[in-house]
Amino acid sequence: TPLSHIRNFSIVAHIDHGKSTLADRLIQSTNTVSAREMKEQMLDSMDIERERGITIKAQTVRINYTAENGEEYVLNLIDTPGHVDFAYEVSRSMRAVEGSLLVVDSTQGVEAQTLANVYHAIEADHEIVPVLNKIDLPASDCDRVAEQIEDVIGIDASEAIRVSAKTGQGITETLEAIVHKLPAPKGNPDAPLKAMLVDSWYDSYLGVIVLVRIMDGQLKKNDRIRFMQNGTVHHVDRIGVFRPAMTEIDSLNPGEIGFLTASIKQVRDTRVGDTVTHEKNPTDKALPGFKPSQPVVFCGLFPVDSAEFEDLRDAIEKLALNDASFSYEMETSAALGFGFRCGFLGLLHLEVIRDRIEREYDIELITTAPSVIYHIHMKDGEMMELHNPADMPDLTLVDHLQEPRIKATILVPDDYLGDVLKLCQDRRGIQLDLTYAGSRAMVVYDLPLNEVVFDFYDRLKSVTKGYASFDYQMIGYREDKLVKMSILVNDEPVDALSTMVHRDRAEQRGRAMVEKLKDLIPRHMFKIPIQAAIGGKVIARETLSAMRKDVTAKCYGGDATRKRKLLDKQKAGKKKMRQFGKVDIPQEAFISALKMD
Ligand code: GDP
Ligand code: MG
Repeated sequence: TPLSHIRNFSIVAHIDHGKSTLADRLIQSTNTVSAREMKEQMLDSMDIERERGITIKAQTVRINYTAENGEEYVLNLIDTPGHVDFAYEVSRSMRAVEGSLLVVDSTQGVEAQTLANVYHAIEADHEIVPVLNKIDLPASDCDRVAEQIEDVIGIDASEAIRVSAKTGQGITETLEAIVHKLPAPKGNPDAPLKAMLVDSWYDSYLGVIVLVRIMDGQLKKNDRIRFMQNGTVHHVDRIGVFRPAMTEIDSLNPGEIGFLTASIKQVRDTRVGDTVTHEKNPTDKALPGFKPSQPVVFCGLFPVDSAEFEDLRDAIEKLALNDASFSYEMETSAALGFGFRCGFLGLLHLEVIRDRIEREYDIELITTAPSVIYHIHMKDGEMMELHNPADMPDLTLVDHLQEPRIKATILVPDDYLGDVLKLCQDRRGIQLDLTYAGSRAMVVYDLPLNEVVFDFYDRLKSVTKGYASFDYQMIGYREDKLVKMSILVNDEPVDALSTMVHRDRAEQRGRAMVEKLKDLIPRHMFKIPIQAAIGGKVIARETLSAMRKDVTAKCYGGDATRKRKLLDKQKAGKKKMRQFGKVDIPQEAFISALKMD
């Protein structure tokens, strides 16, 4: 295909605005797959993605389209991850294409992730075609939403396409706009090979599959290629495209998007954003701006049943094979035994991995408090990164601590603005901006990441009844009064419950935690003190009183089945407990104790 007849694009949208449905409709209406092959929502394949209605990894599909002018075009769609945790991957995959469809739900309007994602598109110099979706719904208000796109994003929306991805209305107009409004890619077929590594994943038959966008030159089967970031050389054994099933072809040319395989064992060796060139006659300049995505949130994962440690290791190694941004190392906890300290791009990433271990590998996990990376500046001038509060060094050696801060953008209907401001204020936020877009307020806050990683998003959803949208970016490290708070149960410190807190909030947080734990830990035959402490100083304390009688006593011995049930329930509960000294602590305590209501 000549360059003039290729169009590469992505779809940017807020979650649930219809990105996947639209992509499916484009695939279907061009007969890229037969109706029989058309599973419901082609592009969201993983179970968890489907359940949560989000796209986790970028996916791609090549579509052949005969336009109304009779010409044949090749359209390459890259479906980018829709969640803030994967912002770096979004920004990279945007650089592999020339244009974007900006999908906005015409019953809702612009949301925080609409903004975040469209900014990536603008930064990548995209031509942007606005699409107003869900026009089949009575609440659709295209004029209002078009105006909002112009006001808030500042792009012309007068020719926005009105679409129902559900009924198929406006789909032809969308395909025509892709052909006529988006630019063709550029590239020199005679220059040395320069390709961008857009994505990669592990396949148990083919090894690592690498998605590339060819900038210059030509990639063929049996070529020897080099990844410029780590210098490794590989022999290409397959190249092809996605229709969306993998289809082998002979060569990939400038402007094209496709895959290669080269007997690569680990996804880690293929970093998103890297430049791929030939071993011989390489390009002299790598693509600009490569930076591997780094984990920002860490937590411990321990098996509930310590006999499952090796199974857990196996599961984690397998998952890491396919996810370069997930890191892990072995960790031993005095309280929890053997486990792993794992690093994630964000909370969603953490939840996805945890869910997969529990579901696909059937291992019950204890997840310890998520923690961000603190910078500890020692008195001797050294700086160390703290990934785990349990590793906090002797305070007498520490000069000061810094924590990561984010810039959070929240869009919320007026009615809930007060609650949102209060929430941000409670989480040590500093307001940076407050503006209006129609009846919605856009608030920008500088917040400590630490206060956000845990349950901020849940709280935001609950105080705004789901009407707020949220997005963030890291802005850097700042010094603050931070301390490590330990929790002692029956006078034994439980390292897995240690957290970093701001000094001024420590009493309040400590009190909340010990109260929660008092409710979560079952009574024992003896009384159990539960304390929060900073250094050696106790700042909050509760006492769980001793159990007086057998729990079944309250059944008055009469009802045998009830008694039975109670015992069974106790037994089931037991399985999810871990022993700390003489005390059984239920698994859920590790997460619940940290939630702030
Ligand atoms: P994504 O999160 O942006 O990928 O959104 P999805 O494509 O998963 O769509 C979210 C929900 O909106 C799903 O329940 C879709 O069936 C629904 N939806 C998508 N497009 C339309 C549309 O044009 N009309 C209506 N009524 N519903 C739609
Ligand atoms: Mg989707």
